[in-house]
Amino acid sequence: MPNLTPKLNALRSLTEDIVERVVAPQAERVDRECIWPAHSMRALADAGLMGLQVPQAQGGQGQGLLALSVITETLGKACPSSALCFGMHCVGTAVIAAKATAHQQEHYLRAIAHGEHVTSLALSERGTGAHFYLPETTLVADGDAYRLSGTKQFVTSGGHADSYVLSTVASDTGEAGDFSCVILDADTPGMTWVGDWNGFGMRGNSSRALQLEDARVPMANLLGESGDQVWYVFEVVAPYFLMAMAGTYLGIAQSALDAAGEHLRSRRYEHSGETLRHVETLQTRYAQMWTDLARTRALIREAAQMGDAGHPEALPYILACKAAAGETAVHLANEAMTLCGGAAYRENSRVAQMLRDARASHVMSPTTDLLKLWTGRSLLGLPLL
Ligand SMILES: Cc1cc2nc3c(=O)[nH]c(=O)nc-3n(C[C@H](O)[C@H](O)[C@H](O)COP(=O)(O)OP(=O)(O)OC[C@H]3O[C@@H](n4cnc5c(N)ncnc54)[C@H](O)[C@@H]3O)c2cc1C
Repeated sequence: MPNLTPKLNALRSLTEDIVERVVAPQAERVDRECIWPAHSMRALADAGLMGLQVPQAQGGQGQGLLALSVITETLGKACPSSALCFGMHCVGTAVIAAKATAHQQEHYLRAIAHGEHVTSLALSERGTGAHFYLPETTLVADGDAYRLSGTKQFVTSGGHADSYVLSTVASDTGEAGDFSCVILDADTPGMTWVGDWNGFGMRGNSSRALQLEDARVPMANLLGESGDQVWYVFEVVAPYFLMAMAGTYLGIAQSALDAAGEHLRSRRYEHSGETLRHVETLQTRYAQMWTDLARTRALIREAAQMGDAGHPEALPYILACKAAAGETAVHLANEAMTLCGGAAYRENSRVAQMLRDARASHVMSPTTDLLKLWTGRSLLGLPLL
């Protein structure tokens, strides 16, 4: 694969090995039984991959956006739920690492790099829905701690992670859109997980709602300065989240193409002896699937490399990635469903799972419509919000 450093190629090979031995064999069960993929996270931790976004100074891999998209793609091919949980862990890690204090470096980043700590992201709320950058959860100073109250929705790895990077209304400015991020430890009193996750797709994701009633968080767990965290949304959360999701959905698109190719090569009719790969209409459809995938992968690679290099025109590329990957994944899974015929349409086939998992891309914020709007605004020199 072009443009990957030897280090990143080695990390990808390591992930492929884990996928083959641990992730893929359990993927069907994860989906069928809504199992949070502890086995995948453990194997990734043992291989040092949970520290992908941790700086090398704290024992991590010190990787950026390109690595995140490549590793989530590798996982997403076999088990999109594992890719999503890993991706959210990496986004949370990147948010912690962006302005980590010495305490946060030692207490959180080192533990993450050693494979002893899983984190996740808790931004979305029922009150503001897709507008994830407008939290209503409150943060009130109380002695040497903060008290948090509110409800988060769809928290990936809910009830399984060791901490959650959580957004709240800024404690002091009170301006709309100004918010503070804190690290909320999983054993904090005042946290209640509500309901179980039983999604249409991404069924191992454990996306649960979290109620907070006067949950006390040490002031040392505030990320950055109180109230300046809109910076986190556009500088850290957005690029890392979009790359993690783009990689995940690209992985689904790749496995949809693979499934279609496998069926076209192997399906042979008894009456004519012809295999489906000799049918011109199917050759054309398969070529279009391959073209869509190659084009999307090229966009993602370009965006990630521009983002890692701090290129001044990276923003529209990064914004376009998740929408493009989501549309490609849904389209290719849908095409694979047609090309693989009745075998794919049977209840809970592998292709059916791809289609269900891919569909999450359009509802996960920033949603496809929102991203297209922001891409257009960015290209036209307008503020995103
Ligand atoms: C599998 C899964 C995992 C998730 N994991 C996490 C997580 O780890 N952390 C987290 O914080 N959140 C997570 N989410 C939440 C997700 O990111 C969204 O915030 C949430 O699904 C959208 O909220 P809602 O259902 O209230 O949608 P609504 O707000 O009801 O929106 C419905 C639709 O209206 C559209 N819409 C709304 N306003 C506009 C507008 N102005 N212009 C155009 N379209 C608009 C939206 O794009 C959306 O398509 C997850 C969601 C899913 C499905």
